[in-house]
Amino acid sequence: MVDSPAGAAHEPQSPPLPPGGTVRPITRWGTEVMHRPQRQVTSYDEDLRALAADMVATMYAADGVGLAACQIGADVAMFVFDCADEGGTRFQGVVCNPTLVLPEAGRRRLDEDDEGCLSLPGAFVECARPDWARVEGFGLDGEPVTFEGDGLLARCLQHETDHTLGTVFGDRIPTKQRKKLQKAHDKTAGDYPATWPVP
Ligand SMILES: [Zn+2]
Repeated sequence: MVDSPAGAAHEPQSPPLPPGGTVRPITRWGTEVMHRPQRQVTSYDEDLRALAADMVATMYAADGVGLAACQIGADVAMFVFDCADEGGTRFQGVVCNPTLVLPEAGRRRLDEDDEGCLSLPGAFVECARPDWARVEGFGLDGEPVTFEGDGLLARCLQHETDHTLGTVFGDRIPTKQRKKLQKAHDKTAGDYPATWPVP
């Protein structure tokens, strides 16, 4: 997921993300792996850590706040994020095999902020989502991890978990909004060559 500027001003609250990755081109909407659930992680090995490091490098190069493995073409249910909540507290992490927990229907409040996706760069449109979310999954060593929060963090956790299930946020908005989104992307397409964000 991509954020509008600001954010990320504070030191993160969680352990550091894996360093040393290589920036890779970002896969776009329409690529097969992005539109079906990806394979669950079963071995927590060096290859997985290397993939996560590449995802982190790519997310930062693209000024994103979250990135799923399918967004660099990998068929792996995993995402990384570095994102602030409503109060400005910054969280970062790696989540394998994520499952989402949302407030029950009666307690759900919708947040109607703009949303964007690194796999459709240069475009934002309103997307209503619950204003709080929790994600449960596993870290790079197979240890259970949980992240939860509100604000942009809630949106990010939902957006990235969606990716691992083959859903893009364009699937969650009305057709008219989706057309508006595509138009905005088409307008700026020249700024994002196929290899973006590789320098
Ligand atoms: Zn996305």
